[in-house]
Amino acid sequence: MSAQTGHALPTVAPTVAAIASGGAFPVRRIYCVGRNYLDHIREMKEADEREPPFFFQKPRDAIVPDGGRVPYPPFTSDFQFEVELVVALGKGGRDIAVKQANSLIWGYAVGIDFTRRDRQRDARDMRLPWEVGKSFDASAPCGPIAQGLDPAHFNDCTITLAVNGSERQRGNIGQMIWSVPEVIAQLSKQMKLEAGDLIYTGTPAGVAPVVPGDHIAAHIDGLPPLTLTITSPEK
Ligand code: MN
Repeated sequence: MSAQTGHALPTVAPTVAAIASGGAFPVRRIYCVGRNYLDHIREMKEADEREPPFFFQKPRDAIVPDGGRVPYPPFTSDFQFEVELVVALGKGGRDIAVKQANSLIWGYAVGIDFTRRDRQRDARDMRLPWEVGKSFDASAPCGPIAQGLDPAHFNDCTITLAVNGSERQRGNIGQMIWSVPEVIAQLSKQMKLEAGDLIYTGTPAGVAPVVPGDHIAAHIDGLPPLTLTITSPEK
């Protein structure tokens, strides 16, 4: 076997998210919850408002930090934001009870579940997997992770997203159909959770497309904001 010219294997570096107090949080996996706010289910015209939560994953190198650039992705003409509360786990386990679930939480952040909405709708209509609509480069921006918040803080907590200074999404974390502990408990029945896992917990109504040049500012009360710029497609 001879070395092939022009190839270079990657040097393996951990994917990290920023920690609000400084430092880096090593990311193991990124999980996302589909459909967790009633007003978003209604705007998407999904049929059943009481289905159990379902989960999908994004590649962990899809994280973009606060202040970052998100190149407009290929293979879509309907690239949309979804602002979400992100839960970072510092402990794992299987079959976690709801009342134990908060003890796994290391911190919280503001995140965006970027979506190729046209490809997601195709997948739904054609009963195909969601990857192409959800799991692509730069699709999981995550703001700095903050520690020390009481989980009860999120029982009545505003979540917003603005594009170019105009508010597009507004909701309350307390409106989630499945609470954070319920989401952790449900997911732990399907997967063994581990420290380093991030869970994006669903979005309220107001999702909409963005284009290159747009500036996004996402906020959740009590957490560091997440700001991003959509840039031209990468060549
Ligand atoms: Mn989402």
